[in-house]
Amino acid sequence: MDEHGRKRPRVLVVDDDEGVRSFLVRGLRREGLEAVEAADGQAGLDGFEERTPELVLLDVQMPKLSGFEVCEAIRGRESGHDVPVVMMTGMDDASAIQRAYDVGATDFITKPINWLILSHRLRYLLRAGSNLQALRRSQERLANAQRLALMGSWQIDFDDGSFSGSDALWEILGVEPQEEPSIQTLAQRIHPDDRGPMLDAYRRCRDGGEPSSVDHRVVRPDGSERILRCQIRMLMDAKGAAAGLEGTLQDMTERKRTEEQVRFLSSHDPLTSLGNRRLFQERLALAIRHARTGDRKVGVLYLDVDHFKRINETFGHSVGDSLLSEVANRLVMSVRGADLVARSDPAWAEQQTAVSRFGGDEFTILIPQLHDEQALAAVARRLLDGLSQPFSLQGHEVVVGGSVGIAVFPSDGNNPEELLRNANSAMYAAKERGRGDYQFYAQSMNELSLRRLILEGKLRKALDASHFELFFQPKLSLESGAITGFEGLLRWDDPELGMVGPCDFIPVAEETGMISRLGAWVIRRACRQVAAWDQNGTCQGSVAVNLSPEQFRQPGLADRILREASEADIDPRRLEFEITESVVLRDTEEVIQQLQAIRAHGMRVALDDFGTGYSSLSYLRKLPVDILKIDRSFIQHIEDKAEDAALTGGIIAMGKALGLRIVAEGAETEGQRDLLTEWQCDEMQGFLFSPAVRAHEAEALWRQGRPARKPGPPGS
Ligand code: C2E
Ligand code: MG
Ligand code: MG
Repeated sequence: MDEHGRKRPRVLVVDDDEGVRSFLVRGLRREGLEAVEAADGQAGLDGFEERTPELVLLDVQMPKLSGFEVCEAIRGRESGHDVPVVMMTGMDDASAIQRAYDVGATDFITKPINWLILSHRLRYLLRAGSNLQALRRSQERLANAQRLALMGSWQIDFDDGSFSGSDALWEILGVEPQEEPSIQTLAQRIHPDDRGPMLDAYRRCRDGGEPSSVDHRVVRPDGSERILRCQIRMLMDAKGAAAGLEGTLQDMTERKRTEEQVRFLSSHDPLTSLGNRRLFQERLALAIRHARTGDRKVGVLYLDVDHFKRINETFGHSVGDSLLSEVANRLVMSVRGADLVARSDPAWAEQQTAVSRFGGDEFTILIPQLHDEQALAAVARRLLDGLSQPFSLQGHEVVVGGSVGIAVFPSDGNNPEELLRNANSAMYAAKERGRGDYQFYAQSMNELSLRRLILEGKLRKALDASHFELFFQPKLSLESGAITGFEGLLRWDDPELGMVGPCDFIPVAEETGMISRLGAWVIRRACRQVAAWDQNGTCQGSVAVNLSPEQFRQPGLADRILREASEADIDPRRLEFEITESVVLRDTEEVIQQLQAIRAHGMRVALDDFGTGYSSLSYLRKLPVDILKIDRSFIQHIEDKAEDAALTGGIIAMGKALGLRIVAEGAETEGQRDLLTEWQCDEMQGFLFSPAVRAHEAEALWRQGRPARKPGPPGS
């Protein structure tokens, strides 16, 4: 240290000549420098290693290791790259001077040594050396900082067009050390879609001189993508002229990922990954806005898991948590299965956010773009059915179920808060009424759904107790006035409700799937009745059975019908089947095949309620039907509405032209019958002759309508 506490520069003197050495050491110390001596090349190298001098004075000519060899060895060491080495040569030894430079010497001085010259040269070299070291240290620090910040940099020199990139840059780009990276390497790594914007930013800076910044992706050789933020600025030379461009590239991948995660977490529930309360309210507000413009409704279902608390307390929170995520899965699956959601909300991600965890064991479901709120009952049913299956959780089998409250925009609220509040109170009402159930908020809806619910329960019991009866309504030939056959019409004779008409319970049976059993019962009953009439020789016409779309869902309908016919021992050709357009409009191919199978066995098919749907007569040509039944709503007004009369007359004419048999439904007056006869309609069915009646009454009608064709007494 010097008197100011500064570290004194250390100079290593390597010379085998003791006189020269002490001359130099004395001189150095006089200059305030620290001097270390070495008497030969090896000692010099050892001294360099141990004392790390700031400068080396090295004699060229030494026995064993020459000065050249020592210099080369010093340069070969990490610590020896930048240390100034001054070689001491003999006067005018040009080849020695050349060789000194070749082995990396910084400078030379000839012997005998002029101290004045040497001392100035040393001072200069020491200053340069320390500057060089400082620069090197700061470069290292910068490179480290960049590596830590996942930041790389590059430079383009306008003078010679050269390009250089930092180690961290190549590391970020996934360039192997053995590759020789260039500006092309950088360009190739940029994601093809981002090359344009990147080039724009580059040009903006180059041509306009303004710093520019752009986020772009790079694709690394292993296929992984990183997101980089590139900032480009102009480099100026000392005179203020553009000298080049400098770019820094910062790897933003993790930061972006974190940002995305933060965004996701702020709108989603981490346990179930469903949307959270906030997201739901946003989506609901949006759905309401859309519904306003499109004159649609929006449904909000509020579901609470029944008995969740008990499960949490009994099995612990970890089981409780797995239950909640399982519940979430089932709800999503149930909603996904709902046609109406699939139709209005096709993107799966969106469907997922349509189900949200509102908090605790409460979930909310959004059904946007709704036409008919009754559809919400079906969704609620499906959600509850999904939940009623047992859950298997960490070795425990648990059964939960849920309660659902339903509110509809606009009738039950005008904004998200109101709708949610009302859906919530409806949910509590559902719980009170005995869990496992749903409840509409609106009073009218409640009554409706309550009636439905009661009906559903009773219908189930009625099926088991066979409280059903098949009534028969005759069809007459308009030409002869004779009964041609009967339509079987279902009646439900409930001990409490009395006689219930099919319009009230068939839709419920269809919605709940009970129609399959009910429909099978009707087919069997019709077959048995035909057999009975065969035996007593009455009602020899056809018997028509109405079929629901659901009955076509399971394959082999024709086979099932034939089996019933053969068990009852009747000719299947006595049977007719009535379908509505809704049957044919669904899964057309499949249904048409089933209808063809039915007709292949000589059973006829009628298209019921014609005119109420969408079928055009030309479409009819493609359908495998034999009979067209014109809906009552047309027949009703043929006497007083010219339009309906024209339409009905037209349908009859064209239907007949297509080779179909035409039946008019719901004929109630003589006038109607006359018009139908005039238009050459084939048959009619209606209260004018008879409503649907019990089998024995049908027999009486048959006898009246077919008077006295009883076989005469034997022998007559
Ligand atoms: P549909 O097949 O069109 O049956 C004709 C309906 O019109 C019957 O009502 C019948 O009683 C009624 N009707 C007949 N003539 C007149 C009339 O002159 N005036 C008035 N106002 N009505 C008349 P119903 O029995 O109430 O049946 C209603 C619907 O229920 C049927 O319409 C049919 O679609 C369905 N349905 C009845 N039984 C069954 C069944 O066993 N299975 C299936 N899937 N559906 C059935
Ligand atoms: Mg019918
Ligand atoms: Mg009908």
